[in-house]
Amino acid sequence: MTIVPLPIVPRPHDDEALSSWIGRIAARYDLEADNLLTHVTGWNRSTVGAAERLDYHKNAGLEVALAQATSVAPETISMLRIAGEDGSASSWHRTTVVWCPDCVRDDLSKRREVYGRAIWRLGCCVLCPQHQVLLEDACRRCTFEGKCGFYCSDGFHGLACRICTRPVGPVRGWQAEEERHEYIGAFGICITPSLNRLVLALQRDLQAALGGAKLKRSWGFTRSAQALLSAILDLTLCLVFATRVRCEPRILLPEWKPGQAFAPVSEPITLAALPLGAAYGVIAIAAAALSSLESGKQCHHWRICGRTTVVMDATSLMVWLPTAIRRWLRSRAIQWEQPAGAALCTVIAAVEKGAYPS
Ligand SMILES: [Zn+2]
Ligand SMILES: [Zn+2]
Repeated sequence: MTIVPLPIVPRPHDDEALSSWIGRIAARYDLEADNLLTHVTGWNRSTVGAAERLDYHKNAGLEVALAQATSVAPETISMLRIAGEDGSASSWHRTTVVWCPDCVRDDLSKRREVYGRAIWRLGCCVLCPQHQVLLEDACRRCTFEGKCGFYCSDGFHGLACRICTRPVGPVRGWQAEEERHEYIGAFGICITPSLNRLVLALQRDLQAALGGAKLKRSWGFTRSAQALLSAILDLTLCLVFATRVRCEPRILLPEWKPGQAFAPVSEPITLAALPLGAAYGVIAIAAAALSSLESGKQCHHWRICGRTTVVMDATSLMVWLPTAIRRWLRSRAIQWEQPAGAALCTVIAAVEKGAYPS
């Protein structure tokens, strides 16, 4: 099939999500992203959800057609995927749209449209690396979470609330919590600029791990990418079950072909299943707890049960976790990369004996 190149194609930005670039091309023709893919494949296959899926799962046939229609090299298209392309990291991708308010403001003033950054799609990214502010997932006007999305407007790619229908953007008089010097976040964490730096460091390493790159530093003796991802998954499960924090049901609909049985697949609970504030909390606690296994004294704090302010480290986390969850974590830690697992088991043993500094 010969594909006629599209007459207007904006170039992808280096840090743009593939789904966002397709959405911006589609907006030029007043289409949704999936409908543009239907067009470039000659209307002969279903493309429902295909644009979002391309962010983590390569589809060679579809991308050849897209490359021909846009005159953008397939390698350039592949490089927009920052966390692997075999679909194995799909559960680390958010199904809701999040954004950095400062990036949105810059985009609107410079180019009249908003492009989605690839890292906004990853559940392990909670802070904007450029502006160092917490990403947002709620409309500032109606405050509904997870109800904003990209849409096309007059040929441009916008970001708006599906409830109050207004574009996402700065609101006069709004003072973001992260603009204050210090405040209490999810799980009673005392959020400070220095904690933000620690969270950014772990966020960078998790992003590297998902993209198959090496970690910049070790996290409680954890040096390999796979071991770090496993440890974070285990700690996320502990915090989710200990706090019963609200999670998005991670049910992915796999590509279904006629003649095959249709079955939803339950995905593991990753940071992508959590609201942003809770995801920040899990990363912060994990970063402080893992770091403390290696270097003792910690300078970050949290208010357990909203009352006592204590140092946030592996010991206070193990004291705080319900016994059953702590024991489950011990059974997992035995399988962690050594000596990280052994170090955590030593902390758990001390806590169980009551032999820990209060
Ligand atoms: Zn930003
Ligand atoms: Zn709204």
